[in-house]
Amino acid sequence: MHDLDIAIIGAGFAGLNLAHAVAGQGMKIAVVDKQTACPDIFRAEKIEAAQAELMREHGTLNMRSPRSKPVGKTLSFDGSRLVVCDTVEQYGISYADTVNSMRAKLPPDVPVIHAAASEVRPGDRGTILLDSGEIIRARLVVIATGDAIQLCKSLGMRRVTKSGLTSLSFGFYIARQDGSDFEFNGFNYFLADNPDRIHYLTVFPIGTRMRVNLFTRLSPRSGIVPRLRTNTVETLGELFPDLFAYTGAIELESQVQVVSTAYYRLRNHHVPGVIVIGDAFQSVSPATGSGLSKVLTDVSVLSNLYRGKWKNLPAVGLEEVKAFYRHQAKAACDRQSLKSWYYSDFGPNSTRSLLGRLQRRLDFSLQFPANEHT
Ligand SMILES: Cc1cc2nc3c(=O)[nH]c(=O)nc-3n(C[C@H](O)[C@H](O)[C@H](O)COP(=O)(O)OP(=O)(O)OC[C@H]3O[C@@H](n4cnc5c(N)ncnc54)[C@H](O)[C@@H]3O)c2cc1C
Repeated sequence: MHDLDIAIIGAGFAGLNLAHAVAGQGMKIAVVDKQTACPDIFRAEKIEAAQAELMREHGTLNMRSPRSKPVGKTLSFDGSRLVVCDTVEQYGISYADTVNSMRAKLPPDVPVIHAAASEVRPGDRGTILLDSGEIIRARLVVIATGDAIQLCKSLGMRRVTKSGLTSLSFGFYIARQDGSDFEFNGFNYFLADNPDRIHYLTVFPIGTRMRVNLFTRLSPRSGIVPRLRTNTVETLGELFPDLFAYTGAIELESQVQVVSTAYYRLRNHHVPGVIVIGDAFQSVSPATGSGLSKVLTDVSVLSNLYRGKWKNLPAVGLEEVKAFYRHQAKAACDRQSLKSWYYSDFGPNSTRSLLGRLQRRLDFSLQFPANEHT
């Protein structure tokens, strides 16, 4: 039996940033994960400037892998105009390598318990049942299990979804056919007219390799999907007619990873002694690049509340739990992430007419009332 101050279930980006943020202050903490290491999955592969700032605050920025220099000046093309933008402190990373590096660098007094949590029972000291037969008791149980819903369900929580908000993302590596270097640090290509439900393509370095992420609203059943998988370079050229003028002749250097995402948000989540963070609480459209902002904001708010007001309370009660979810910074970040998802669905030309803008604003507030994020 483990008796802890904080038990974190899930050693992903959320759980590990939290573990680092609260470590070293005399509290008994452990992280539980069903996997021995994060596998090579397609998740966040860019850290933006504001996200880097929060990681610096939690002491995890230098754990990113590969630890390369900021991408810096990036070309951005919308089909007619090319602009150079300075992405300042933007890093290309491997999600799995970064998460595994954060896991390896946990201090020795923060163990990772390798087991799947099968049930959480709330109380002044919450109880976690592990599939290994072990039991954990903790003052605060943090659920950071990504898109896995089972534990939240075991506590009577449920998810709401919106069938219209979906996303299909493709990720792969490319190289120039002649083996030479690309003539840019990073390159983004947006489509002004969007009949095929394509958001944009972004090309950026991860270490010494060049990664491509393609974000779309394609249905998994669209005929474009198998073509992108098997005839990737040719299909890219058809979807993005000017692409090769910027990249030169290219070839595929890896398999194509395809991930489908749908919007959900947790309900019935006010349970004493239990907090849900990151993707376990609300999903994110990969196209918006706001997932890590949401994760890191949850971590900042929770670690500040715990280290401040909560540490010396006899228990983390219902009022404390509500204070976390209603925290202005957290609620605003969740809502902004949802808004970006909703608006990105209309493409870059969608905000040009005043009537169109007003209709969209009205539709958004009807579908997602303002109290949605409190
Ligand atoms: C294709 C794609 C591209 C993206 N690109 C970006 C981007 O460019 N920028 C950005 O900011 N965001 C991006 N995101 C979003 C971002 O990746 C996520 O918001 C973030 O990874 C969520 O981290 P997490 O820790 O909440 O979940 P995860 O990383 O999924 O971690 C969950 C962990 O919980 C463990 N677990 C699950 N169930 C149990 C259990 N019962 N017991 C024990 N352990 C358990 C899992 O093994 C896993 O280790 C992208 C997402 C996708 C899908």
